[in-house]
Amino acid sequence: MAGMLELKSMQCPLCNSKDKMIIGKPRRIDYLFSTITTIDLSPVNIVLCRRCTLIYVDPFPLFSDALLEKMYSNENKYFRELTARMERITHLENPVRCFRTARRFSEREIRNYLEIGCGEGFGLQSALTFNWNVYGQDVSPDFAATVKCRTGIDIMVGRIHEFSYTREFFDFIYIDSVLEHVTNPVEFMKYITNFLAPGGVIYLVLPNENSIPNFLKDFVFELKGSNQTSRIMPFSEPYHIIGFSKQSILYLGKILNLTIPYLIRKFSYNHIERYKQSFSITQLLCRQVFGLVHRFCDTIDKGVNMEVVFVKSKAEIMEKWLKRRLLFIKNENT
Ligand SMILES: [Zn+2]
Repeated sequence: MAGMLELKSMQCPLCNSKDKMIIGKPRRIDYLFSTITTIDLSPVNIVLCRRCTLIYVDPFPLFSDALLEKMYSNENKYFRELTARMERITHLENPVRCFRTARRFSEREIRNYLEIGCGEGFGLQSALTFNWNVYGQDVSPDFAATVKCRTGIDIMVGRIHEFSYTREFFDFIYIDSVLEHVTNPVEFMKYITNFLAPGGVIYLVLPNENSIPNFLKDFVFELKGSNQTSRIMPFSEPYHIIGFSKQSILYLGKILNLTIPYLIRKFSYNHIERYKQSFSITQLLCRQVFGLVHRFCDTIDKGVNMEVVFVKSKAEIMEKWLKRRLLFIKNENT
């Protein structure tokens, strides 16, 4: 397994600051990572950038393509079996709700849709019902095969810098549960933005690291005398290596020169009963309590899920054009 994983000391992947604060040790190390014996993971910390509030792994893990393929594979059971209710919500209701919101903020009619990290293809499936031209990308050949079976769509397999799409081709780009997995979020988003048409929208779904449930979990760790943190899990599913909050997302929007008309930290309540598994009565009771906490946090916009709309706004271009036009009319009349 040599060469599959490298640890690299880096400054903040979002703002390049070196000013950081350790918030704890990563939680679990799963079977896949425990087999990598060539690298000692014990010096790894989860840190918070004091400048932009991004949470990241330090030293930073760089995964080889072969390891990425293993992490996001059916064999590794990246997508576990959901409860029937969660299946309905995740595969159907959520994408449709997000697409309707995106359409509301789009400054142009949506024709061409791209999903980055389309996973099992449920987003693509929902997009087809909107009668859009549907395109997808994922790093996993395994998921690409599943998508082909489910939707008949041939997605692009590989990292995004291998894209061969036309610039400004897409009216809507949907990125659900992806940004928290990438090494360089700025370069990643800038690259994607090249393919977005003026007036088009990007809809981003990602975890909110500054949620109240995360603070509560870290408080419990502290009470137990553990040095671990609940934030991002780089070495066990879901393999998150960076973590955003509202503040760091607004920072990202500024770097990208995109407007953010919509940012919510709701729809987290559902996460509590995500996977099919058996529970003892005590665990079931705890789940009910967690469920209530999540529901409350959603109501006050401090939930564990975050959804953001970025718009490549045409407003400024329009304003300039209008000013020029008015000046022209004025000159014509004099
Ligand atoms: Zn930073």
